[in-house]
Amino acid sequence: MRLQRTIAKEIYFEGKGLHTGTHASVVISPAPVDTGIVFYGSKGNFPIKADVFTVAETSFATTIKIDDVKVRTIEHLLAAIAGLGIDNLLINVEGTEIPILDGSATILTGMILEAGIIKQNKSKPCIKIRRPLVYEDAHSRIIALPHNGYCISYYIKFNHRVLSQQELTIEINERSFVTEIAPARTFGFLKDVERLRKNGLAKGGSLENAIVIGDDGIINPEGLRFSDEFVRHKILDSMGDFLLAGYPIEGHIILEKAGHTANINFLKKLLSTPDSFTITSEPILSETDNLVISALSS
Ligand SMILES: [Zn+2]
Repeated sequence: MRLQRTIAKEIYFEGKGLHTGTHASVVISPAPVDTGIVFYGSKGNFPIKADVFTVAETSFATTIKIDDVKVRTIEHLLAAIAGLGIDNLLINVEGTEIPILDGSATILTGMILEAGIIKQNKSKPCIKIRRPLVYEDAHSRIIALPHNGYCISYYIKFNHRVLSQQELTIEINERSFVTEIAPARTFGFLKDVERLRKNGLAKGGSLENAIVIGDDGIINPEGLRFSDEFVRHKILDSMGDFLLAGYPIEGHIILEKAGHTANINFLKKLLSTPDSFTITSEPILSETDNLVISALSS
């Protein structure tokens, strides 16, 4: 049995959003069992639960919305929360977009580990994949397979001389997330920047919060954190999106050229195909993972 988890004390951070370029501040607070991950946006004092049903936009970032209150670009924060197995939080956002920070989830995971993770007195069920499920659209394919644990395989392909294709398979646990996935930064192609900005996107993007891929190489003077940082960031994004299933997933998820739209459509297909999974309270994390958390926090 895996117990639900929240954080031990409040977390505060602020900064500008990747797409809007506007400033926001965020307060993350501990929450009781069965709360889930619940946002409060600037204008509305009503909860917006992070799940597939509140997702309103998936183009270049994942946005949740109720009425006219939006919280944009939630995926990196959700990845940090999912990667550390946190289940219950209240997240108050003053502004419309979660700050991009350094473009990865490292600062976010660091803040959560520093605040401390506490176990709560109720078990957390998970979605256990029982039968293969395939989601496909014109650009992407996502396959869910039964697997003992949580494994993600990702394949990306671009028509670009600097970044053509990368693939990675990784068994996800707290340690592998913190060391192998969380540091991977968001990225974009220099040739797309002007078009994105014309469409009101990437207004807050810079070499401080994104890898920029030029025609002949990486523009960032510091280079890459991993040679395959791009596919690692795509795994990070998908972990954030998959938190919106409402339960951790036990299975092997294989993604080919998927983005936020495919991730969310895959989750909707999965949740509406009940014979492909069961919701179970079997353990997905071993006791050693719990020891890892205390080691990482110290
Ligand atoms: Zn991202």
